[in-house]
Amino acid sequence: MPPSLPDFSKSHGSPTDKTESWMTLRPNKSSREESNGHNGTTSNKVDMFVGDKFFRTVEPNCFDPEVRMKEMDATGVDIQVISTVPILFSYDKPIEPTTALARYLNDHISSVCHEYPRRFIGLATVPLQNIPSSVNELRRAKLELGLTGVEIGTEINGRSLDHPSFEPFWAACEDLDVPIFVHPLGYELERENKARWGSYWSAWLIGMYVYYFYSDFDDANYIPRPSETALAMHALLSSGVLVRHPKLRFCFAHAGGAYLPLLGRIQHGYDCRPDLVAHSSEGVSPQSYIESHQHNIWIDSLVHDPDLLQLICKKIGPERIVMGSDYPFPLGEMPVPGEMLASNKEVEELFSKETRARMLAGNAIEFLGLHDMFIEHTF
Ligand SMILES: [Zn+2]
Repeated sequence: MPPSLPDFSKSHGSPTDKTESWMTLRPNKSSREESNGHNGTTSNKVDMFVGDKFFRTVEPNCFDPEVRMKEMDATGVDIQVISTVPILFSYDKPIEPTTALARYLNDHISSVCHEYPRRFIGLATVPLQNIPSSVNELRRAKLELGLTGVEIGTEINGRSLDHPSFEPFWAACEDLDVPIFVHPLGYELERENKARWGSYWSAWLIGMYVYYFYSDFDDANYIPRPSETALAMHALLSSGVLVRHPKLRFCFAHAGGAYLPLLGRIQHGYDCRPDLVAHSSEGVSPQSYIESHQHNIWIDSLVHDPDLLQLICKKIGPERIVMGSDYPFPLGEMPVPGEMLASNKEVEELFSKETRARMLAGNAIEFLGLHDMFIEHTF
């Protein structure tokens, strides 16, 4: 993300907009005092606020490419795929300032990628609360800015990804050949609604099962993320989106959350209560689809657990797993992204060097459609 953000709620909002929870970035006072002016503005920490509520402090490795590249060099990372921080999706905000924010974030990511083309590949963000605006920005991001893919949330202001309103967006992603990275939001539970949890037996198959509870905030009332990501996968597979749009390429963060550990249960639900689970799937049977060498779904490797890595590889195949880092945040693989795949003894015994190299790089190249860029390498 950039080191600072204009307040688009003021420049692009209307007086009737509810913008009291607009995201702002403020210099972290204590880090400014610590640095004493020696490191320049971008080397100070930044505080993120939602309205007047403090959200989190981010380090310079979140917004300073030079710091990122130093850390990449120190940890053996050649290239990062960069995307915006999910709290900045702003799907619940008025469309005019959110569109301006998306343009600003995409311009920034694009500028970083153009300045350091051998180190960064960029994903766009789009204002998905308004489909025409999101399609326009997707088109601009791909065709004018040269961004490679798009990052979206697991839900869009209360709408699951199976909502019919998203059909034109999926069609645009297909037409423009834009791969889609899905990352959970971490919005508060009060934003949840019954319609999301009521479809496809989701409250039982997904909502009641939490693979582990995510919370790194003091007021621990955030959505359990693995369940949230599983709910997004469940909605897409159960609604026939991939039948209607067979060229879509999705990658789900955090190994798809709880989806693969739940796959047997979901399949059982599909078989024993098709009236609740299979009514819109257009023949997509979850287990057979996932295990069928399909070409629509990838997941990242961020499980922090070799046993779970083995399980997800068995379910979806190692060729569908890309290295996920969550860099530079604490729940990522820190301090060395990809360490488990590269040098964990258990993982070395489970997978050949070639398979691990594919998970570290080759599969991401396939998901992102970047074969031409890496033609000289073999993975
Ligand atoms: Zn993440």
